[in-house]
Amino acid sequence: MAKDDLECSFCGRKKPETNLLIAGLDAHICDKCIEQAHGIVLEESKQGEAKELSADLMLSKPKTIKAFLDEYIIGQETTKKVMSVAVYNHYKRLLQPKSEDDIEIQKSNIIMVGETGTGKTLMARTISKMLNVPLAIVDATVLTEAGYVGEDVEGILTKLLQAADYNVEKAQHGIVFIDEIDKIARKSDNPSITRDVSGEGVQQALLKLLEGTTVNVPPKGGRKHPDQKFIEVDTENILFIAGGAFDGIERNISKRLNMQAVGFSASKSDDKVERKNLLQYIIPKDLKDYGLIPEIIGRLPALTYMNPLDRDTLRAILTEPKNAIIKQYQKLFEMDDIEFEITEDALDYIVGQAIEYKLGARGLRSLCEAILTDAMFEMPEGDVHKLVVDKEYAEDQLNRSTLNKLKAVS
Ligand code: ADP
Repeated sequence: MAKDDLECSFCGRKKPETNLLIAGLDAHICDKCIEQAHGIVLEESKQGEAKELSADLMLSKPKTIKAFLDEYIIGQETTKKVMSVAVYNHYKRLLQPKSEDDIEIQKSNIIMVGETGTGKTLMARTISKMLNVPLAIVDATVLTEAGYVGEDVEGILTKLLQAADYNVEKAQHGIVFIDEIDKIARKSDNPSITRDVSGEGVQQALLKLLEGTTVNVPPKGGRKHPDQKFIEVDTENILFIAGGAFDGIERNISKRLNMQAVGFSASKSDDKVERKNLLQYIIPKDLKDYGLIPEIIGRLPALTYMNPLDRDTLRAILTEPKNAIIKQYQKLFEMDDIEFEITEDALDYIVGQAIEYKLGARGLRSLCEAILTDAMFEMPEGDVHKLVVDKEYAEDQLNRSTLNKLKAVS
């Protein structure tokens, strides 16, 4: 056969009509067909990946999700429940075959309201660990509208891509935790005065991500390299979890509750309202009054609250979670062949200090660190293989530590 008579066995193009014709055993393939075949392979492997992801995700029913959260997080029952259902529904939505009927399940993004240090980030981390999906934690305070100094909202997706090792498919099934969402609340009730750089504009930009949109993401973040190639990320299936302390929101809640009490049966509802923890009565309207735009609130339909950590909870946090602080120290000492014990008294003392100096759960770790640093410095090279920390030892170590000086000024 003459060279020019050769043809592609797939599309039939003659050699002169192709840029390249590759010979196989009994057949030929042209450059165009190779490209097409490559596209098909990519598409198939993407679908395969998505299916694999889906299969993993489908395993966990709400109760299983909650049981997993229970292993790591003390208390916060309401949030755990809301979170388990929202996460379950979110991933169920992803698995819903498209256009089967007209019912389109909307996203169940979540918003948690509660003081700092009550476990909001831990909640998001634990969920992402359980689902084995990438997690990006971002601070809303650094976000700005495009064009202003600070991080563009798209930067959130850069972080997610990084967390997913640049696997776009994985990132698109990931979780974004937006901390301090209350800090981008509109400062005044009158949105028209001046452009509010840190507030409403950012909310608007964020809204697009929450709604589900395709964004060109700079893989390395920043906008200083206009020539860097963008990666397209679809936010449609990303689960957004927002958290914020919403300082002072109790005032809005209490005002609303009182108003209702006047309108309805005052004494009755008064009886029912537990004044100590008003956050449990939070409704979307309170967030709106605080300065979140209604559209954002609408896109974060699972609203839940975190309880402040009381003495019992702090005490449990020290010893009960799967990776409880005390368990971590036990392990550290064990690696040096040292048996570590801490008495009930000492634990109560640490909790007492955390409460007295308003250090919260985060303080527990620094307190333990201050108490144990000497032992962790001395013992690995010593002959003693057992450490028992009682209240006196803890008190003594703490009084000598720099933490004590810090407390003096707090
Ligand atoms: P937030 O995001 O609400 O500010 P974090 O999730 O960062 O709080 O919590 C701070 C630390 O306190 C966590 O690392 C965790 O060890 C501990 N912690 C807080 N709340 C709990 C809880 N309910 N159960 C277990 N640990 C907790």
